[in-house]
Amino acid sequence: MKTVNKEFDVVVLGAGPGGLAAALAAGRGGAKVLLVEKNGYLGGNMAIGLPLLGFLDKDGNKVIGGIADEFMKDMASYETAYGRAASEHKVCPMHNSVTLYDHELFKIVALHKVLDAGIEVLFHTDIESVNVENAEIREITLRGKGYRIFVKAKIYIDASGDGDMAYLAGASYEKGQKDTGILQPPTMMFTLSGVDIDRTIDYLAENPDQMDRSKTIDCAGGYDADFFRSDPNFVMVAMRKLFSQLREQGKMPVNRENIIVINSLLPGEVHMNCTRHLGTDGSDVFSVTRAEIEGYLQIEKFVETLHQYVPGFEKCYISQIYPSLGIRESRRFSGIRQLTESDVVNGVFNEETIGIGSYCVDIHAGDGLSTIFTKIPAYGIPYGITVSDEIEGLMFAGRCASMDAVAMSSARVMPICMAIGEAAGVGAALAIKQGISPREVDVTQVRKTLLDAGAILSVNK
Ligand SMILES: Cc1cc2nc3c(=O)[nH]c(=O)nc-3n(C[C@H](O)[C@H](O)[C@H](O)COP(=O)(O)OP(=O)(O)OC[C@H]3O[C@@H](n4cnc5c(N)ncnc54)[C@H](O)[C@@H]3O)c2cc1C
Repeated sequence: MKTVNKEFDVVVLGAGPGGLAAALAAGRGGAKVLLVEKNGYLGGNMAIGLPLLGFLDKDGNKVIGGIADEFMKDMASYETAYGRAASEHKVCPMHNSVTLYDHELFKIVALHKVLDAGIEVLFHTDIESVNVENAEIREITLRGKGYRIFVKAKIYIDASGDGDMAYLAGASYEKGQKDTGILQPPTMMFTLSGVDIDRTIDYLAENPDQMDRSKTIDCAGGYDADFFRSDPNFVMVAMRKLFSQLREQGKMPVNRENIIVINSLLPGEVHMNCTRHLGTDGSDVFSVTRAEIEGYLQIEKFVETLHQYVPGFEKCYISQIYPSLGIRESRRFSGIRQLTESDVVNGVFNEETIGIGSYCVDIHAGDGLSTIFTKIPAYGIPYGITVSDEIEGLMFAGRCASMDAVAMSSARVMPICMAIGEAAGVGAALAIKQGISPREVDVTQVRKTLLDAGAILSVNK
């Protein structure tokens, strides 16, 4: 095995929304940054066909700016054969807002930004071990394609979703819902082409009961066929009745009530958020492998069902199955502050706010068909959720940051993960400039840097 030694100011593990924003903010703040990613592209779940949720709160106020918004403005400036590569932030009676973008082009736009910020990227590389002495990270060991890479940095930001670096460092974490420990289930995202979505909308107009939802889903009025007709930028959560009948007949291969159809910017294409893999732990390789095998098999059967029973899908075909299983929830680490259920449902803001969450509490049952989906007020995300309270030099970005399960079910959406990551990157760069720990950083300076870069840190309620 070949070995290499490297030194950086900041190492970011994982190039999803949290890691991308953290690396960009740290790099733009003057730090020498290494961004490590196990896949061969940037974006994490930004590249699996999902819409961006969370830019607007339930009252239509814009609550996310900064790097997340910069990405969408840049994407919207791309004129493609099908039109602009990102939509407006469209108000939605169910999800508060929906922003669609071209996730393939996103990989290229992200690469430009990362290269412009002078960030070194290492693809196809995983973490092997973390050397911790006296509660401080001294070095990490990475591994990829016959190389063992020893990296020393001043600050290590874990943005791997599952918190693989923090786990190897021995940091404390929580998993699953309070009392039960049940984890939200993952989904294998796929894209269908050859879909006549107007026909599907006509079917919903003729059968409005197919828009009925369970009582656990909180949705404002006007989420119906006319809404889908009004503007192609939508996410369609529908057909509970049809799929319940098909399940009774043994023709519905997926354990969930509704299907989620994300209209694509590309004509005739939709992204399907449909499979569900109960009892999966996304941070366990054996469990993930079982779920991925199940995912492929569910998709095969599900497409057959769509062909036969769903108007508009008669001629659809699979154009992509995404290479990474979408993990909603796994480890959440302990920080100097924790974002809690009480903070998010009561809309708490304080002087440490470095970003705003407002997306619904959205908990997919890990042991059944249902989803809890509750609208909440906008709330402030404190800087301390990005800083380990146990291990010096360790920070978090994205869904593995310090949150309880309910708070995470809201803050897990990608624009919010970007806001968390951006704050972590700013905090890391400031700590390095001042030769202090990220724990000692003055949050007023973090907030000022974020505001100067276009972040939104307050909202008129
Ligand atoms: C099925 C599903 C549907 C969702 N729907 C929406 C939606 O509609 N809108 C929305 O905004 N959000 C949605 N979310 C939530 C959102 O996608 C995630 O919560 C968010 O992407 C988390 O961001 P992250 O940066 O923490 O992690 P991720 O996006 O998971 O990124 C983590 C990155 O780290 C890399 N990585 C992991 N482990 C390692 C390792 N050991 N070494 C190196 N690299 C590693 C991964 O390859 C990945 O690139 C959904 C999530 C799922 C799973």
